[in-house]
Amino acid sequence: MMKFFCDDTLGKLTRKLRLLGFDTKKWNGDFEEGRVLLTRSRKRWESYPGESFLIFEDNWRKQLVELEKRFSIFQNALMFSRCPECNAILVKTTAEEVKDRIPERVYLTATNFKVCPNCGKIYWSGTHVERIRKEFERIFGGTGR
Ligand SMILES: [Zn+2]
Repeated sequence: MMKFFCDDTLGKLTRKLRLLGFDTKKWNGDFEEGRVLLTRSRKRWESYPGESFLIFEDNWRKQLVELEKRFSIFQNALMFSRCPECNAILVKTTAEEVKDRIPERVYLTATNFKVCPNCGKIYWSGTHVERIRKEFERIFGGTGR
């Protein structure tokens, strides 16, 4: 599975790649073997010592399409497996275990609970997740695959 750095020219893309399950770090000037730097800066793209991919679009949806065309990322996506806030891999949990940290309505109705072992954020299935899933499918469905 591909790993990425996103630099500060890329806005929401970091979060979206994490939602798709890709190990994605904010770029802080480092070089890391096997991690592709994504950037909209031609200068940075040219000077980076490792593999780097120059993004042209400024909208994250179109940026994902650019990545799909170059790397075919969607076939390897593991949606909702990684924390969009901090990049850690989420761990399955139960409503019971996180009862005191979620709203009662969620405790009573939601399913598929996951917790981030790094930042502690709790995630669950629901209409918001379905909306994001459909949006990804629409974006990648339009790329000719
Ligand atoms: Zn987290």
